[in-house]
Amino acid sequence: MDAETQQTFRTLTERVGQFRLKDKTCLIPQMNRIGGHLLAGAFRSFGVNAVLMDTYEGLDLGKAFTSGKECFPCQVTTGDILLFLKKEKEKLGKDFDPDRYIYFMPEAEGPCRFGMYNKYQRIVLDSFPELESLKIGSLTSKNAYALDGMLDAEQTREFRKVGYYSVVVGDVLDRLLWRVRPYEKKKGMADEFIERATHAMADVFERHGSTKDFERILDKLEEIIREGKAIIDPGIPQKPLVGIVGEIYLRTHVQSNQDVIRLLEKHGAEVLNASIAEWVNYTTYDRMREAKISLRLSLKQLRVSRIRDSLKKILSYGVDLSYQHYRQDQVYKRVKPLLDLAEDHRIHHLDRILGKEKIYSFDVGTEACLSIPGILEYVHQGYNGVVNVYPFTCMPSTITSAIIRPIMNQKKVPYLDTPYDGSFQPGREAAVRTFMYQAQQHFKRHGRNGSS
Ligand code: SF4
Repeated sequence: MDAETQQTFRTLTERVGQFRLKDKTCLIPQMNRIGGHLLAGAFRSFGVNAVLMDTYEGLDLGKAFTSGKECFPCQVTTGDILLFLKKEKEKLGKDFDPDRYIYFMPEAEGPCRFGMYNKYQRIVLDSFPELESLKIGSLTSKNAYALDGMLDAEQTREFRKVGYYSVVVGDVLDRLLWRVRPYEKKKGMADEFIERATHAMADVFERHGSTKDFERILDKLEEIIREGKAIIDPGIPQKPLVGIVGEIYLRTHVQSNQDVIRLLEKHGAEVLNASIAEWVNYTTYDRMREAKISLRLSLKQLRVSRIRDSLKKILSYGVDLSYQHYRQDQVYKRVKPLLDLAEDHRIHHLDRILGKEKIYSFDVGTEACLSIPGILEYVHQGYNGVVNVYPFTCMPSTITSAIIRPIMNQKKVPYLDTPYDGSFQPGREAAVRTFMYQAQQHFKRHGRNGSS
């Protein structure tokens, strides 16, 4: 191996990983705006100076430093970090110190490319000699996004709980927006309200996160839900319900998906997008599932240390998953009596659906594990249409599309694929309009939730 290649591999292990966040500025890329603000608030509550970076303005830079073969979210996030650092350098001049920052870029294992974003971005950052010392903080789905080594040992577990709570509350605020915006009394009310509510909730996380004062957070959430509900004009009739699945970044990053939810709303839909907590629950569930498989194998081979190790993992991930369910239920129990917001699917339920239908398997992994049964669940619940939102060439979403299309035709439920790569597609709005016409027809015939 030549010296240059060796150096590249060295930086991938030395400057990508789990680094102490104390006394650093933690740069969080913006995927879903609301959840990003709440997570940054939760970090600040634990004494970490966390900043949610602006997004999408650096896309030209992202494209300049990628070849076009990478997944679109990689281009967007590469542009975000490069533009942020460029602006920071301009602002601070000679006081700019890259060592003060940790750029937060999680990864997922599996047969797709999300595990490579942070490595690729490391290579890009290393092409600027002055940015070499900027570290990339990486969490991985391999250990269900544990934060070991990033915070003080006693804070790590506590932060994980609060961070997860911020994800669930962020999901609820997103759902509140999608629930009220199609029925708002005056155009723009819901967006203006949710912007205020997001910052108010981020403040609550910052003040009460580290003490795990979940009651205060729930009180504020309840107040926000009541205020949001008042935006609904009761005179506006119910609209067709459309479910969204797809690749997590694209379906939640409004700029990258060219605000597809708003476009669907423009053509008469009420929309529900799959949540972020669902992905977090999936990673925990999947680690537990793998440990169970390993236990079965170890029992067959009578390997005592492996049996012990697998049992420990099953217990640990099982406890984490139960905790996540407990907190998620706590939040939804508080908000559902106030407003009919949809709850998440349980992952074991989605696993069972796939097991029964035999059309895909959790053994293959990736987001298709959630999207395929998630679509079937939408159909089962009487949704009037489903949209699959993903980056152009995304492998799991293309698999989802290939498997689910014939099934949706058979079930006679409108279905639309919407791949994005940053370019403007002149036919996109016409496709959405046609899809919404079909969804309207479905709604007229079957009503919502299967009740006509
Ligand atoms: S899920 Fe799709 S877009 Fe995301 S890394 Fe995998 S292939 Fe790329």
